[in-house]
Amino acid sequence: MADRSTDHDAESTDDFVLAGTPDAFERLWTPHRLAYVSKGQSQVTDEASCPFCAAPQRDDEASLIVTRGKTCYVVMNLYPYNPGHLLVCPYRHVPDYTDLTVEETAEFAELSQIGMQVLRTVSRAAGFNLGMNQGKVGGAGIAEHLHQHIVPRWGGDGNFLPIIAQTKNVTGTIGDMRSIIAEAWQAEAQQFREKQAAQHKE
Ligand SMILES: [Zn+2]
Repeated sequence: MADRSTDHDAESTDDFVLAGTPDAFERLWTPHRLAYVSKGQSQVTDEASCPFCAAPQRDDEASLIVTRGKTCYVVMNLYPYNPGHLLVCPYRHVPDYTDLTVEETAEFAELSQIGMQVLRTVSRAAGFNLGMNQGKVGGAGIAEHLHQHIVPRWGGDGNFLPIIAQTKNVTGTIGDMRSIIAEAWQAEAQQFREKQAAQHKE
């Protein structure tokens, strides 16, 4: 956070203002930008109109899916905060984290972990923001279908985040990125599971 301190030094003496000071995370998590589709949540009324239900029905390239598990899958966010912004979704059209079964919860977590590892390898991500916005008041773009954001971070990326978040013409780049991440996935997943198994033995 040291690199951001100069932005807010003047405000930091005022507690009231400080509470509203946008740090990197808050700026990143601006709810109105968290839409998977430009139409937003008002268009998602049921499974038939849900992009997270529709995506797995198309091929990986068309749907920007990175990998498919048994109960959950990983897809590129169409409107990324940063290049490589991934979403982990259950196949089932459920809104809340507490709706996941034990099996779904385990795979949801594992895909998130492997996703981080893949992004570290292919993009040298230095940090991440992970999270789920729950409910409309929680800022979920599509509140009806649970999804976890994995946003890779690099030092100083805050400076161009707003530009990236508002850029709509990045589909080609996302397609290329999807291929790179998808190709790296299996090897990283294998390494991840070996690491897990080794830790279990200790
Ligand atoms: Zn859905």
